[in-house]
Amino acid sequence: MKQPNRKRKLSMDSKELLNQDGCLEQAEEEKKPRDGAAPLSHVPSVTAQEAWSWEQYLTEQKATAAPVELFSKDQSFPEHENGFQVGMRLEGIDPRHPSVFCVLSVAEVCGYRLRLHFDGYLSCYDFWTNAGSPDIHPVGWCEKTKHELHIPKGYRKDKFVWMDYLKACKLQNAPKKLFRNRSSNGPMPKEFQVGMKLEAVDRKNPSLVCVATVADIVEDRLLVHFDNWDDSYDYWCDVNSPYVQPVGWCQENGRTLIAPQGYPDPENFSWTEYLEATQTNAVPAKVFKMRTPHGFLPSMRLEAVDRRNPRLIRVATVIDVDDQRVKVHFDGWDHKYDYWMDADSPDIHPIGWCDITGHPLEIPYRANDVKILPGQAVCPTPGCRGIGHIRGPRYSGHHSAFGCPYSDMNLKKEATLHDRLREQTQANLESDSSHSKSKNLCSLNFSGKHEKVNSQPRPVQQAKCLKIKGKEDIDLDNLFR
Ligand SMILES: [Zn+2]
Repeated sequence: MKQPNRKRKLSMDSKELLNQDGCLEQAEEEKKPRDGAAPLSHVPSVTAQEAWSWEQYLTEQKATAAPVELFSKDQSFPEHENGFQVGMRLEGIDPRHPSVFCVLSVAEVCGYRLRLHFDGYLSCYDFWTNAGSPDIHPVGWCEKTKHELHIPKGYRKDKFVWMDYLKACKLQNAPKKLFRNRSSNGPMPKEFQVGMKLEAVDRKNPSLVCVATVADIVEDRLLVHFDNWDDSYDYWCDVNSPYVQPVGWCQENGRTLIAPQGYPDPENFSWTEYLEATQTNAVPAKVFKMRTPHGFLPSMRLEAVDRRNPRLIRVATVIDVDDQRVKVHFDGWDHKYDYWMDADSPDIHPIGWCDITGHPLEIPYRANDVKILPGQAVCPTPGCRGIGHIRGPRYSGHHSAFGCPYSDMNLKKEATLHDRLREQTQANLESDSSHSKSKNLCSLNFSGKHEKVNSQPRPVQQAKCLKIKGKEDIDLDNLFR
């Protein structure tokens, strides 16, 4: 394994981002945050941070690390350095709308991670990803692979030309060599084709298995879209994913299949009738392979991205597992911050990952290690160092419960940001064929007419209370009301 330079870290403050983005309309950027720009309000003492080591910690705790072999290529130690630089342009998937490919820029580089910014949008929508992520592609990739590119806000779709944009704004594209060569699983079996139907787990409500469509295929991954639901439930997975199953799987395994939203008689959903009505085919059952179990066990230690504050990676413990997921606890923190992550999430790493990639690691919180200077404004949440903000990465810090991603008042707020795409004018949305594409594929209604994709949120509350054992456990009428 090649070890990248340690502690190579570039960062930038919001001012630099504005300069670097100067060519774009940034007028919508909010004024200087009142409750921000003052990170590190209280910090573990330098000695505690520097003296900390995994080796010593594991001995003290009589704990074991999750073995490196359990981690996938996307989670394990990178083979290459992160060569991306702040300001470079690229194309990539919007994590909140996985069917949408966008014009992105590198806003921050930290170790093997990148903070990516949607050109023309507020930086509150920025997101973190690994430099080796299969979700990012070089400039020109969409054109080459016939994918719709979601262009920067303020540009006309028919007038946007990448090279002109880069030239006019004096921007640099990220060189192709920085993007990893994918396909660790080999190519996608040719039997998988866009538009085919399957049964898939709703990853936001993992007890539900729903009628779904292969909405896209890129290299060895497919995009799962749930019929008649909006694209925020979509996800990319590989062929061997335990989340995708052939048509008829629920019936064979005594599980309830959730019919498409609005299906006239959901309790008596029939694949035969549905395939005929939608004039589609099922993915052949023989191409589905089951993945081997993930192997993580409770009490194993690892390094995990903190979803509430995604710029941070913390010392963490697996405290529970199920077939596809691990429940992560951040050492030293209250259990109310624990949460489930997919076992194949690119946000969990073996111990030592931060050290080797040059990313800061948040060490376990111990109240005694924290030194607060007299008169210093500090976040009142135990363990919180005042880094990050409930309103996303445009605020680098906070010093009150109001902005704290961990405060009780904010703990229940999963989605505090507005949807980036809903900000757009209706005209833009209508001209965006990446949306109309999924309409064509997946939202054919039962009289054969196209129907507008229903953008209502899924009835999570109801769905969560359901036990999927048999049909009688589900009140489908209620579920789809
Ligand atoms: Zn805080």
